[in-house]
Amino acid sequence: MAKYIAEPFKIKMIEPIKMTTREERQQYLKEANYNLFSLKSDYVYIDCLTDSGTGSMSDSQWAGIMKGDESYAGARSYYKLIDAVKDIFGYEYAQPVHQGRAAEKVLFPCLLKEGQYSISNMHFDTTRGHVTLCKAIPKDIVVKEATDTENFAPFKGNMDVERMEAFINEVGCDKVGVIIMTITNNSAGGQPVSMENIKETSRIAKKYGIPFVIDAARFAENAYFIKTRESGYEDKSIKDITRETFSYADAFTMSAKKDAIVNMGGLIGIKDNEAMYNAVKGFTVPFEGFVTYGGLAGRDLEALAIGLYEGIDYDFLRYRIGQVQYLGELLKEGEVPFQYPTGGHAIFIDAKRLLPHIPYYQFPAQALACELYLEAGIRGCDIGSYMLDPVDGVQPESEMEFTRLCIPRRVYTKAHLDLIAEALINIKENASKIKGYEIVWQPQVLRHFTAKLKPIE
Ligand SMILES: *Cc1c(COP(=O)(O)O)cnc(C)c1O
Repeated sequence: MAKYIAEPFKIKMIEPIKMTTREERQQYLKEANYNLFSLKSDYVYIDCLTDSGTGSMSDSQWAGIMKGDESYAGARSYYKLIDAVKDIFGYEYAQPVHQGRAAEKVLFPCLLKEGQYSISNMHFDTTRGHVTLCKAIPKDIVVKEATDTENFAPFKGNMDVERMEAFINEVGCDKVGVIIMTITNNSAGGQPVSMENIKETSRIAKKYGIPFVIDAARFAENAYFIKTRESGYEDKSIKDITRETFSYADAFTMSAKKDAIVNMGGLIGIKDNEAMYNAVKGFTVPFEGFVTYGGLAGRDLEALAIGLYEGIDYDFLRYRIGQVQYLGELLKEGEVPFQYPTGGHAIFIDAKRLLPHIPYYQFPAQALACELYLEAGIRGCDIGSYMLDPVDGVQPESEMEFTRLCIPRRVYTKAHLDLIAEALINIKENASKIKGYEIVWQPQVLRHFTAKLKPIE
């Protein structure tokens, strides 16, 4: 059993959550057409839908909200944020934007030309979308360990550098516009990337003259994994590890709604390339707003500057990653299958192994997500076949059927985690009774957000 680290904070303000009965939840879920995105959050007891923008801000951040400088140009809060980026990442230039996908929208047209490839360990969905909007082609080259959910590997998020170099040689280096390293690797289950892998990817990028960009949403969690799993980093601080990580890249995009613990915000960082910074400023003004606010209020810039420091605090990270590991230990003991080892921000329950009687076209991971809501008011989501839109009318089969439970930062206590584990273990006992689902209505694209379903009787 992993040693659980208690919260490195105490609670000064609370937000009540509603307790509901199973009968009420049956009614709410039916009214939501068995789509958890259509549920009112008031009907959810423990909300594990996402860790994006759902963290609790600290007293310092809330004090910062009151101090935010709302000047249109040259705001004090902007300079505070730029200084924080210089200090933590060692980058000369930074551009605030309203969230992660805005950073992609502004930066990618500066790097990608029509017909070029973007190579990544794994593109996050918005990242993939913005590559495609540049008429470029996203190519994922993650290590093979990523798909093995049962066996331990310390860095399942890594780029497969050999295959990456072979791919560059195959298509020609002029056809590769950018290499993007996503840390942690969200789509592989929040799995970390090693410093060695970042360094090696950077070396190859330089060799072929390809810009190297970090998708930095969970940079601090990744640094924590490097500190605790990679030899030579045990005694380094999270900040030193962060500095070294970013020294290998040319630029980063960041959704600050994750590790910077704000409800809204994003960043572009540029190491030292002034021409790239000028191009970024050029797109920021029409897309996001003037350079010194970038689509955010002054108070948001202030909270972000403070949150960046709170996000790299070692005691916070030990508690945070410890929470996810603790939940993993409870599930392991209860023999509930999940992507092992646990990553940084979420638990990915292996619904294919838990519900082997439900075929992929009846959406086992969605069935489990619905059951977990009925059982205990817990909201997760499907990362499996239900998330895949039909191709020419045919339902693709996802390689993995995950029900993802994200853990928001500084929001839930150990008792909440115990309840999640208890609910899942109860479900496992009666798993064979759970039924699959069919879709009764769906939109053309990104159907999982709005589709309507019904249980198969
Ligand atoms: C969340 C996320 C994004 C997109 O950020 P938004 O703030 O949701 O726009 C991009 N990349 C990764 C890895 C993310 O987790």
